Amino acid sequence: MLVFEKGAPGRGMQILPKCDVETVSFGEDVSRAEAPRLPEMSESEVSRHYSDIARRCHGVNDGFYPLGSCTMKYNPRINEVTASLPGFTEIHPLQPENTVQGCLKAIKDTEDALCAITGMDAMTLQPAAGAHGEFTGLLLIKAYHEARGDKKRTKILVPDSAHGTNPASAAMNGCSVVSIPSDEDGYVDLDALRAAAGDDVAGLMLTNPNTVGLFDKNIKEITNIIHECGGLCYYDGANLNAIMGVVRPGDMGFDVVHLNLHKTFSTPHGGGGPGSGPVGCKEKLAQFLPSILVEEDADGLHMTKAADSIGEMKNFYGNFLVVIKALTYIASLGAEGLKEASQNAVLNANYMMHKLKSHYTMACKGICMHEFVMDIGDIKDATGVSAMDIAKGLLDYGIHPPTMYFPLIVHEALMVEPTETETRETLDHAVDVFIELAERAKSDPEALHSAPHNTVIGRPDEVKAARQPVLKYDFAAE
Ligand SMILES: *Cc1c(COP(=O)(O)O)cnc(C)c1O
Repeated sequence: MLVFEKGAPGRGMQILPKCDVETVSFGEDVSRAEAPRLPEMSESEVSRHYSDIARRCHGVNDGFYPLGSCTMKYNPRINEVTASLPGFTEIHPLQPENTVQGCLKAIKDTEDALCAITGMDAMTLQPAAGAHGEFTGLLLIKAYHEARGDKKRTKILVPDSAHGTNPASAAMNGCSVVSIPSDEDGYVDLDALRAAAGDDVAGLMLTNPNTVGLFDKNIKEITNIIHECGGLCYYDGANLNAIMGVVRPGDMGFDVVHLNLHKTFSTPHGGGGPGSGPVGCKEKLAQFLPSILVEEDADGLHMTKAADSIGEMKNFYGNFLVVIKALTYIASLGAEGLKEASQNAVLNANYMMHKLKSHYTMACKGICMHEFVMDIGDIKDATGVSAMDIAKGLLDYGIHPPTMYFPLIVHEALMVEPTETETRETLDHAVDVFIELAERAKSDPEALHSAPHNTVIGRPDEVKAARQPVLKYDFAAE
């Protein structure tokens, strides 16, 4: 039942305090003719309604959630405690600087920590998500070339294993996208890269480890090829879970990087909540950063704008409370703890991959980073059971499916990212379930075609859900 179908007219729960400021009437011309049709419910009904909805969802608090590339890691509760402090929540963005010194310090500390983690010189916290960060970073690259009068650079090189947002961001920036193939071991094909590099290349967008879970051993050579042709290198750091404290994009030769605080730095996400996609860059691009930046001098902390700023990417400071959660995570783990988190993420992925590789074909041979990709193609050929069927089968065991059908270069892909905080028992259980499903594909494929069997919702029509989403409540049909 939807919230509009619950409650009854007049059943309210508005217990508002007495108004302690002067009331102002805006007049008839700006008032609405009819009151809005809002649900009218008691507090207990509302509370039960949302608990009921929450029970139908699978979150990191419900069970294993190995969603590759998206890092559904545990979000420590301490993050919520700091992000709820009134000093952070009850402020106004236009308050005078001297009354928000603590908030500016938190922004500055986060910028500094993220620069240290990525090997960048400057950082903006304004973008609201990963794709927004990519768009921002490409604007910086564009501004850099334009400021040098170098106007013919319109191409962005993107490996074929890239996240879909990379070519999309490049296209939104008015660039043409050149796809660079992977070689047979899954690394960037260096000959193809050399052939594409030229004086019309604005830059390269790359994620390393790539989406197949491989760390590209030629990374210095790759960034050199781009720099030699006058282009810049963009690092998609949405998921930094393999490399925090181990290796830095800045040291690999990258000039710009975005991070997803809502993936690597433990902010809850996946339900569309606020995210944050900070963008870091090397000194030569810092003059183009979007405002607002924080600077410190003898009088305290100040908000400043970069000299040749590309402008505002979002209002004020971006999603400030997400930044506070990330800062809490960074401060509570410390440099050693962040490194250990990455090491455990890589260990957990390799542990699972090793136990599964005699039952499933792996897209990458050898050692993986924080995630691994299983190729269900041969199971599908032999039994008809697809990656989607295996994913749906997992739901009956209380396990959230891995990322499906990504990366695109693996046709029946299941991309598993266990994350660093899972126990050995959880990993062992998930391995057992995966093995059981591989067996069932052979013995009873029908059971998997129709899975899940124990969930509230079975198999929705995914095409219809995407093409004809019902996003509005139809009052007329009441
Ligand atoms: C999630 C992700 C993105 C996009 O981030 P959003 O916050 O969803 O916009 C980009 N690149 C990679 C590799 C990702 O995993």
